[in-house]
Amino acid sequence: MAGKIPNTFIDSLMARVDIVDVIDSRVPLVRKGKEFQACCPFHEEKTPSFTVSPSKQFYHCFGCGAHGTAIGFLMDYANLGFVEAVEELAEGVGLEVPREKAVGHPTQPKESPGRLLGVVDEASNWFQQQLRTHPDAKKAIAYLKGRGLDGRTCAIFGVGFAPDGWDGLLVALGTNDTRTQQLLRAGVVTRRDSGDSRKGREFYDRFRGRIIFPIEDHRGRVVAFGGRILGEGEPKYLNSPETSLFHKGSELYGLHRARRAIGSENRSIVVEGYMDVISLAQFGVENAVATLGTATSRTHLQRLFRLAPEIVFCFDGDRAGRDAAWKAMQVALPEMQDGRQLGFLFLPDGEDPDTIVREEGGEAFRARVNEALPLDKFLFDTLTTQVDMGRMDGKARLVSMARPLINQMPAGALQQMMLDRLSSLTGLSGEQMGKPPQTKVAPRQRLRSQPLEPGQLSPMALAISLLLQNPHLGTKIENPEMLQQLELEGAEHLRQMLQLIKQDEGFNTARLLEHFRDSGVHSYLEKLASYPTSIHSEALHRHFNDTLEKLLAQQDEQRSLHLLEKSRGQGLEGGEKQELLALLDAKKQRIEQVSK
Ligand SMILES: [Zn+2]
Repeated sequence: MAGKIPNTFIDSLMARVDIVDVIDSRVPLVRKGKEFQACCPFHEEKTPSFTVSPSKQFYHCFGCGAHGTAIGFLMDYANLGFVEAVEELAEGVGLEVPREKAVGHPTQPKESPGRLLGVVDEASNWFQQQLRTHPDAKKAIAYLKGRGLDGRTCAIFGVGFAPDGWDGLLVALGTNDTRTQQLLRAGVVTRRDSGDSRKGREFYDRFRGRIIFPIEDHRGRVVAFGGRILGEGEPKYLNSPETSLFHKGSELYGLHRARRAIGSENRSIVVEGYMDVISLAQFGVENAVATLGTATSRTHLQRLFRLAPEIVFCFDGDRAGRDAAWKAMQVALPEMQDGRQLGFLFLPDGEDPDTIVREEGGEAFRARVNEALPLDKFLFDTLTTQVDMGRMDGKARLVSMARPLINQMPAGALQQMMLDRLSSLTGLSGEQMGKPPQTKVAPRQRLRSQPLEPGQLSPMALAISLLLQNPHLGTKIENPEMLQQLELEGAEHLRQMLQLIKQDEGFNTARLLEHFRDSGVHSYLEKLASYPTSIHSEALHRHFNDTLEKLLAQQDEQRSLHLLEKSRGQGLEGGEKQELLALLDAKKQRIEQVSK
């Protein structure tokens, strides 16, 4: 387990990265005054409303409200997790991502991911070379031809061959101890059990007598391998173990290659094996990916839903396939915001996508996908076969099984329709079944659907918004002592930002925001950072200090109201009377000042 990335590193990374480069290399930008523009990559539009500010290091779309820092952009656009986005940015500016020591884990010898990637890549080339040149490769080629794969498809997917024997790869690539250790950490070489006292080699090849399928990560870099046995033997399929490069629960086979087709078809297809993905691609169905010997995870689904709103799961029609589909559905329910679709395609017994597409062709397979069972039908069909719908207690049992599932869905039209369906099946009204608990909508969704209205900000939110967008304001505060007395909600965040800016005047919007990524207010702060304040730059300084004064006035107001209330009830104690008089006096002075 790698430790946390230190905050100081994120900060120096943000100081080096230029968001304009990061976005421009993916979505070409055009300069417009001090900012850059493009048609928004997050919603359909013909005139550009997607704006990137080099001074704030922040992007904002006036059309759909999408916004964020360079890290946030990579997470949303390239479908990366936080750590992946940080790694990608760091690589771009030539920094290596340090990790804090993870508690309870012995520190591993440090190894840059780049070096390990190089080793995996060399192994991949070696496997491919064996398929072309090894005397035993004939068997492998015959097998691939038998499965209907042509040479071109095999080359595209980098299919290779691991000859029988124990040390083909080890001898070729493990030329010294360091290299052997790297092959071990890359998962292509195995070490003999230390308890095994029999004589023999300490290291040996993991993949032997197998067809090799390189597994790429979301960026298209080979990180692991899958191997299918040639002829009889166990296991039929063998994957690389989890390594620092390869995490089965988050990678999907073929995702990098399928990304474009998923986007253009607006749909991804999830199948079970590498051969399915490859055969489908050969027949022109290029939007399929496969899980890697694990059940579908939430990370998988989130990755796919970011690329297209519909996912179709393709399973064997047998018992095991139905069970796997049910499990996938359960994982998917919390992700089913309105606008997303889920389908379940069950193939005839004994068939898989690979065999079907070779028998019927790509178009027929697409037609099957179009006919996939929608979520509601799969859910209710499955449950109603498990109860006796002709009996009252059978219907009650249906409610008790379906409700917990539907409750996991985010609130919205789809959830309501599922409830309505349950009502019509059982004859019970929504009230009789009880209201579903309000499930929280994913933050990003909530953020985009509810933009802040102008004029809606409290003085504290306005102060934070101005400071986030113009950090230099923090260097010239007229009344710094008064900030220490502030107790209003948000005061702590305001003070933290001012502290950061005091330490380093080079702070920009993005650097400030990244300091609060884990704080629970991050998404609110992002909204404030893109809030249109439309204040002329010369008036900003005045406006900011006035806002801070307002904060103090607001706090005084709250305190005096509290004391007035108390004086009417239990009465004031100690210095409270003096305090109240002073507060009221200060208020009077403020009003006089304003009217002058
Ligand atoms: Zn947009």
